[in-house]
Amino acid sequence: MLNIALFGPPGAGKGTQSDYLIKRYNLFYISTGDLLRKEMAGRSKLGLEAQSIIATGSLVPDEIIVQIIEKTIVANTSCNGFLFDGFPRTYIQAYILEGLMLKLHTSLNCLISLDVPEEESVKRLLNRGLTSGRSDDNETVIRNRLREYNQKTLPVLQFYRDRGICKDVDGTKSIEEVRAQITQIIGVELSKSLFNVVLFGYPGSGRGSQGRAIAQRYGLEFLATGPMLDAEIKQGTELGKRILALYEDGQLVPDEIVVPLIERKLAEAKDVKGFIFKGFPRTLVQSYILDGLLKRLGSSISRVIEIEVPTLELIRRLDERSKTAACMPYDNSTSKIVKRLAEHETKTVPVIQKYQQQHGVTKVDGRGTFEEVSARIAAEIETGLKSQR
Ligand code: AMP
Repeated sequence: MLNIALFGPPGAGKGTQSDYLIKRYNLFYISTGDLLRKEMAGRSKLGLEAQSIIATGSLVPDEIIVQIIEKTIVANTSCNGFLFDGFPRTYIQAYILEGLMLKLHTSLNCLISLDVPEEESVKRLLNRGLTSGRSDDNETVIRNRLREYNQKTLPVLQFYRDRGICKDVDGTKSIEEVRAQITQIIGVELSKSLFNVVLFGYPGSGRGSQGRAIAQRYGLEFLATGPMLDAEIKQGTELGKRILALYEDGQLVPDEIVVPLIERKLAEAKDVKGFIFKGFPRTLVQSYILDGLLKRLGSSISRVIEIEVPTLELIRRLDERSKTAACMPYDNSTSKIVKRLAEHETKTVPVIQKYQQQHGVTKVDGRGTFEEVSARIAAEIETGLKSQR
């Protein structure tokens, strides 16, 4: 996710810049001012409470803000990222935002501060008042809004300076110049962010071959638990012997074995653009572990793709594979194949359902030639990469 907060006094140009940014980066826009105006227009309890406060130019209490902001974030968790305008406006709200982002296993990338002197703000707001229809765009209220800004909102900058994610932009420049500065800042953020894909599908759906090809094509690191475990088996280590016994019984390898291997691979990867995970996470527990491992890299899951192949076709493919050098230890008997498919059904399907709620899962038709399926996956990856830029 790409999460950005636009900061600055009223009239700094946050709304104007937002229009462009949400389109360019495909972000979900959250303006607490707009949300409050919507509540007021709908004459809800919250709206009525906020109305008299907004009319004076004071800040609405944090308890009201937390309710409207949480409602909006929770309803839009599968978006590409959030653009916050007019939030956080108090030190408490900065903590609230941190908590909400943590809940989504993500964080704020940066807070972009549009620096505009007070008299310029007043001039712009009075000008806006001629057409905005906003009753708070008059001089008395504007002065109070700026007083509130100086007293309660400005200290928020220090919160983000301390975390090293506050970026300053000269807001007095033209709209285009400010936009260019902001896109440059976001560009740097995006170049830091990894593009992580989790690839699902039943055994035999082609995750391995497709994942490897896609990883190579887009400069991603293919991280598959199968080959890591196979390497242990081939080396004949103690771990390898344990893994082989589990494989032969069609069972999943326990987390105590898998997780340190994944952790090592993630730590070893240098200068990669992202990862394609295949065969991990396979259980709900592993999905939480992966969230944690990626969080440590300041990252999260970007895309979840499931390759779909009808069961009979899967069995046919696995049976065929058992006669080739690519034979997996669980491929060589029908009962083992069926057990392995059932294991996927009970343990991995709930992970896919969890991701469906959290990020959305794209289903890709796994039938047809290798190239056809590859093109379908590539299209999805490109959409993801584009929306990350
Ligand atoms: P805006 O549209 O962002 O200029 O907000 C208009 C008014 O809504 C402000 O003057 C505040 O009274 C109220 N408001 C908007 N966002 C917040 C917030 N995050 N915290 C407290 N009050 C807010």
